[in-house]
Amino acid sequence: LYDRDGWIWHDGEWLPWRDARTHMLTHTLHYGMGCFEGVRAYQGLGGTNLFRVAEHTRRLLDSAHALDMAMPFTDDDLIEAQRQCLIRNDLANAYLKPTVYFGAEGLGLRAKGLTVHVMVAAWDLGDYISPQAASIGLRALTSSWARHHVNISLCRAKTNGHYVNSMLALNTAVKAGFDEAIMLDTEGYVAEASAANIFLLRDGVLHTPEITSCLQGITRDSVIQLAREVLGIEVRERRITRDELYTADEAFVTGTAAELLPLRELDGRHIGGRVGAPEPGKPIADDSLTARLQRLYRRVTRNELGDD
Ligand code: PMP
Repeated sequence: LYDRDGWIWHDGEWLPWRDARTHMLTHTLHYGMGCFEGVRAYQGLGGTNLFRVAEHTRRLLDSAHALDMAMPFTDDDLIEAQRQCLIRNDLANAYLKPTVYFGAEGLGLRAKGLTVHVMVAAWDLGDYISPQAASIGLRALTSSWARHHVNISLCRAKTNGHYVNSMLALNTAVKAGFDEAIMLDTEGYVAEASAANIFLLRDGVLHTPEITSCLQGITRDSVIQLAREVLGIEVRERRITRDELYTADEAFVTGTAAELLPLRELDGRHIGGRVGAPEPGKPIADDSLTARLQRLYRRVTRNELGDD
C-alpha cells in the first residue's frame, strides 16, 4: 500500500506517497482517538463526480468536533483538498480517505498540547464489488458482538476506535464461513452490518434502524431519498428485531464502498424465501426493489439523474 507513486495531502501540503510517514508515538495510533471518512469519486456525465463530498466533509468535521479535536481546516479547505487529490493523482473512479488524527506531542490519556493533523489519500477504485457479486449478495451471521451504545461512545462520529468492534464482528463471521456480520445493539435490536447500514422490505414498505447505535450513513440517506422521492416507497426508521430480517421480503446493506448489497441469508434463513425469491447464490430478480435501487443509485452516483 505504501510503496507506490502518488501524492497525499497532509496539513495543506503535498507529500510524495512514499514519504507520507508519521512518528511511532503518534497519539491516535495508541488510543484510537481520531476520525475519518470514506468518500467515492465516480466518472460520470460531465466529468468526475465527488459524490456527496459536502455531506462527507460535514460528517468529518462533526466527528472531530464531537471528539473535541480542534480541526485546523474548514469544510471548504477539505473539499478543495479532496478535489485536488483526484487531479494530482490523475484519478477518476476513486476512493478517498480523509483522516484526522492527533500528533506525537505527548502520550497518555492526559496528554496536553496535542496537535490535530489532517490527511487525504486517494486511490483508484473501479467496481469495488463486481456486478455479479452485487447481484448474488451476502450470507451473514448475527454477531455475538453488540454494536456501540450511545452512552459508551459517540455513535454519530466515524471514529477510528469504533472499528475494533466492527473487525471483531466481521472477523468472527468470516472465520465461520460467512460474508458479513449483522450487529445488534446492546438491547438486542438490529443496528447495522460491520461497516454498512441495513434495510429490509416487507409488504412494499422499507424499514431501517433509527440512528442510535448505527452510523448515520450517507448512502443510507441517499437510499431513503431515492426510495421516497423517486420510487414513491414509504420508508420507516424505527427499532427492528432480528426475526423481522428473517421474515423480510428483501433486505440489503448500504455503504459508500459497498453501495447496495443484497442480504440473502441470515443465520441460515433464506431472506425472501417465503415469497419465491431466487435462492441465495443465484442473482436477485431484476424487478426486486433491491435491484431497482441499485440501478438508481448507480445512475445518481454517475450524475445521470441530474441532482444528487
Ligand atoms: N456503518 C458503518 C459502521 C460504516 O463504517 C459505514 C461506512 N462509512 C456505514 C455504516 C455506511 O456509511 P456511508 O454510507 O456513509 O458510507
